[in-house]
Amino acid sequence: MQRTAIPVLDMHGISMVYRTGLVETHALRDVDLRIDEGEFVAVLGPSGAGKSSLLGIAGLLEAPAKGGYRFCGEDALGLDDGAASALRCRSIGFVFQGFHLIPDLDIHNNVDLPLRLRGIGAGERRRRVREALARVGLEARARHFPAQLSGGQQQRAAIARAIVGRPRLVLADEPTGNLDSRMGQGVMDLLAGLNAAGSTIVVVTHDVAVAARAHRLLHMIDGTLIEFPGTAGALPAGRGR
Ligand code: ADP
Ligand code: MG
Repeated sequence: MQRTAIPVLDMHGISMVYRTGLVETHALRDVDLRIDEGEFVAVLGPSGAGKSSLLGIAGLLEAPAKGGYRFCGEDALGLDDGAASALRCRSIGFVFQGFHLIPDLDIHNNVDLPLRLRGIGAGERRRRVREALARVGLEARARHFPAQLSGGQQQRAAIARAIVGRPRLVLADEPTGNLDSRMGQGVMDLLAGLNAAGSTIVVVTHDVAVAARAHRLLHMIDGTLIEFPGTAGALPAGRGR
């Protein structure tokens, strides 16, 4: 895959505040984050640290209270809802703790859904869905329904759905959180393999063993993001912080 000088994700001074009645929660405090093409990044932090809020902004699902965000060089916060969802659909793949497969659709049709939403033709879709299912080792399960698969297999199907559109960025929110440790390892092996093949991946997790699989590690605590010393070598030269 070709490396570009433009970062996939470039956030500056991002803050996020939730207001519930009289209570203000500062979910993110002045977060700076740059992620280049081909990186495999983990954000480690306890429950409530702000990890999902960070992915919500990164994935163009939510707008911050303050700050700037460029996605692949484009001002992601200046887009209207339609443009943001088109960019999200084309460029970002999501993996969730709870898989979020549609129970009434078989695995093939679950993985096909993002391509349908983009209006891609049937032949091309069929080819891409088969390829994505092969990459996650589920070719033989295409006509199974989610409830007929193990948790690990369901998460592999969800990963196939995340990558079928060849996104610029894959965002995974506690992807092993509902899996036993063996299945969780399998899912992380798969994400590591996708990264080795060129995908840019961000995993957020509270699990140290999961985070340790990434090449670059950041810690999130109380809405503040801290780069782990020793993994900053994963950054291009001249980018000290
Ligand atoms: P994490 O994913 O690390 O567990 P979150 O980003 O979900 O953390 O939450 C960060 C903080 O923001 C927490 O204190 C949480 O309670 C609060 N929060 C998250 N979502 C909402 C919401 N919709 N309304 C109010 N507070 C929220
Ligand atoms: Mg969360």
